Amino acid sequence: MAAYYPTFYDRFKCRAADCRHSCCRGWEIDIDEETAKKYLGFPPSLGERLAQAIVSDGDTYSFRLTEDGRCPFLNGAGLCDIITEYGEDALCDICREHPRFYEFIGENELRGLGLSCEAATALLLGEKELRFTDGTNEYDLASLIRNVTGKRLPRRAAFSPPAHPETMRAVLDLFSQTEPIDERWSEELAALRRNISSTVRAARNYRRICDRAAYNRVFQYILYRQLERINDAPLRRLARYAAVCTCFVFLLDACGAGTAGAARRFSEQIEYSTENVDIILDGIPNP
Ligand code: SF4
Repeated sequence: MAAYYPTFYDRFKCRAADCRHSCCRGWEIDIDEETAKKYLGFPPSLGERLAQAIVSDGDTYSFRLTEDGRCPFLNGAGLCDIITEYGEDALCDICREHPRFYEFIGENELRGLGLSCEAATALLLGEKELRFTDGTNEYDLASLIRNVTGKRLPRRAAFSPPAHPETMRAVLDLFSQTEPIDERWSEELAALRRNISSTVRAARNYRRICDRAAYNRVFQYILYRQLERINDAPLRRLARYAAVCTCFVFLLDACGAGTAGAARRFSEQIEYSTENVDIILDGIPNP
């Protein structure tokens, strides 16, 4: 089996207490069964707290989040009590692996770092060019796709900032059909749609000054993450999915979220929900 990953992959380092958008809050944290059972057998000092913090329906386990949506083990210093008491080896699979993702195409593994993580987004945006490696050779996205799928990336598959109000409106309408990650998401999206003329104005102004190379890296990386769907969706459609998603990032960015903030917000809303990815993929009009 060959494993491919972006060349910045090994430079990832969690920002821990310095992270402004910690992955330890804002979404459900599932615990794999083996770890959940291990937790439930811990000695009373932390074991009792763990037992109270685990919710189970018999088949699945997750942490009972606090009222403000935080993992109950995220302490006031922004660190994890499970790590400080038991070390990193005690973490459940999701907490140990996040933000890494692993996708498979036949015998090939595609690894990456999810853009919901601010450290991962900073790495992608900090690159001059998005390159991938299998540990020996380096590839651009088109040659990686050829190696792994035997298909050619359409020559015109690149991101172009939206120019037309109808395109912007259609993208915002499509994203508003996705299942919201939190209330703030719905409110922000509603504001962009309600004030569509200022959204359009901001996007048109931003077209002139945005970093197009950075946007192409975002486009390519979004496409890379969905390549494992190649057997269900033609490459052309996946490229359109990536273009629409990058257009959404662009609109958020143009309206003040910043490129990193917009990419991070897009990713946590869409890329961690198969249903939301499906909604976007299915909702893209045919060319
Ligand atoms: S979002 Fe990324 S940098 Fe922040 S705590 Fe999670 S893994 Fe670390």
